[in-house]
Amino acid sequence: MVVNIKDVAAVGRRCTLALLDGKTRDKDVLRFPATPQRHKDFKVLSAKDKPDLTNLIVRPPPEAAPETEARPAPAQTQIEAHYRDILAFAGEDPAREGLIRTPHRAAEAMKFLTQGYGQDVQTLLNGAVFHEDYDDMVVVKDIEFYSLCEHHLLPFFGQAHVAYIPNGRIVGLSKIPRLVDMFSRRLQVQERLTIEIADALEEALQPQGVAVVLEGSHMCMMMRGVRKQQAAMVTSHVKGVFRTDRATRQEFMALVKGDGRG
Ligand SMILES: [Zn+2]
Repeated sequence: MVVNIKDVAAVGRRCTLALLDGKTRDKDVLRFPATPQRHKDFKVLSAKDKPDLTNLIVRPPPEAAPETEARPAPAQTQIEAHYRDILAFAGEDPAREGLIRTPHRAAEAMKFLTQGYGQDVQTLLNGAVFHEDYDDMVVVKDIEFYSLCEHHLLPFFGQAHVAYIPNGRIVGLSKIPRLVDMFSRRLQVQERLTIEIADALEEALQPQGVAVVLEGSHMCMMMRGVRKQQAAMVTSHVKGVFRTDRATRQEFMALVKGDGRG
């Protein structure tokens, strides 16, 4: 589609734009607000009408919400357009054969890696909490987790160790790794991830105590840091008897420090 950039209705639509360096950008989304600087970067591909874009003023389409209001989640096609921009930003040609479907795959991957936003503890644990007079420590260790750091959108991953001491209620063991998954598949910092897992278990089971330890390797440190860092970051959060009773806490830590394969 060839559009006139002065046509306000074009905002938010896919357009064919001619860049000033002679290249053509297809199916780009014309955005509002677009700064005058941005408009200097391209002109509309139109034989008849070549507007002077230097002093261009673009008004929002009538249905556009004020900038301060929360915007609804954009459609996947918009995200794919952003990924094409990211490829170009990195110096790549998004039209290169090997990259044609990359924006689509990257958007799908991002959706998968952040699917925890669409889940909640209640639904996840629904039907899996049982009454049981068991009051020894329940430990699930070496739970793999994969998350994205909220500062760089790069992965951090490692192992989670979760323990609780019941107080009349237990949870199906498979639910604990799923709880870890749910909170991991959001943008996180490891400290908050640790606390969220512990808080969710405490709320669901009202146990005598909860303990969570996470050991994570952070790609944002390992790939882009000044020096390589192999060391895992360890975070822990303990509640209830794990906090008040040293022996209980030590028993858990000893269990976690074992090689975990035995
Ligand atoms: Zn980071």
